[in-house]
Amino acid sequence: MALEEYRKKRNFSKTPEPAGTVARRGGKARFFCVQKHLASHLHYDLRLEHDGVLLSWAVPKGPSLDPRTKRLAMKVEAHPLEYGEFEGVIPEGYGAGIVMLWDRGTWTPETGDVDAALEKGDLKFTLNGYKLKGSWVLVRTSGRYPGARGGAARAGDARSWLLIKHRDDWAGEIDIADFAPRSVKSDGDFEDILGADTPAVWLSNKPAKGGDAGAMLATIIERAATLKAKRSTTKDTRDTKTKRPARRTTQSAQRSQKKKHAK
Ligand code: MN
Repeated sequence: MALEEYRKKRNFSKTPEPAGTVARRGGKARFFCVQKHLASHLHYDLRLEHDGVLLSWAVPKGPSLDPRTKRLAMKVEAHPLEYGEFEGVIPEGYGAGIVMLWDRGTWTPETGDVDAALEKGDLKFTLNGYKLKGSWVLVRTSGRYPGARGGAARAGDARSWLLIKHRDDWAGEIDIADFAPRSVKSDGDFEDILGADTPAVWLSNKPAKGGDAGAMLATIIERAATLKAKRSTTKDTRDTKTKRPARRTTQSAQRSQKKKHAK
């Protein structure tokens, strides 16, 4: 909290000073998360709290900190708020696979009217997560199609958007998905989440769509193992070359990234 220290130093029954509220440009900070989702395809689900739900975009390649790299973000159905802290296994049905809480924090719209921004297809916002920070924009690429007016357009029914980092102190060339691949909740990778003594399970009540998200869990498990093997090989090579420690916390990764940028 920005006013924590201010408040700690004051007794508001004795001072006329206000306890204060933190003013934010555009709007109030709300919850956001990115869930790394190993389903039929690996992707990153960006979720922004709005009107009591989590607006969601599936980003196949994950967010990029490089403003020149625009990442496709497919708008998908809104999720319940409580899903935002979920990390675990979806054993069957739509989205079957493993979910890792890859980043979380707060987001602040850089506009007073989020609904209007969504309808316009241009939502600027600030993220304050562990891995993702600073200013971003989601821009819809597909035109509005017939019937997308009113309610449908408000919900952002045209699916194809781009997620782009704005140029600021938190932009950079580091591949954040590669550099900070693990969970902010458990510090685990997919295998650790799967191998937890009692992995959390999210039961999807939506039937799997043919071919797309209907991959068998066995395949997913195999893919998790392959990913891990592949990553530890690349990591070994990189570590040997650069003498980097094998594992860093995301916070220190973010710090050094910022330092690098400041130079
Ligand atoms: Mn997903």
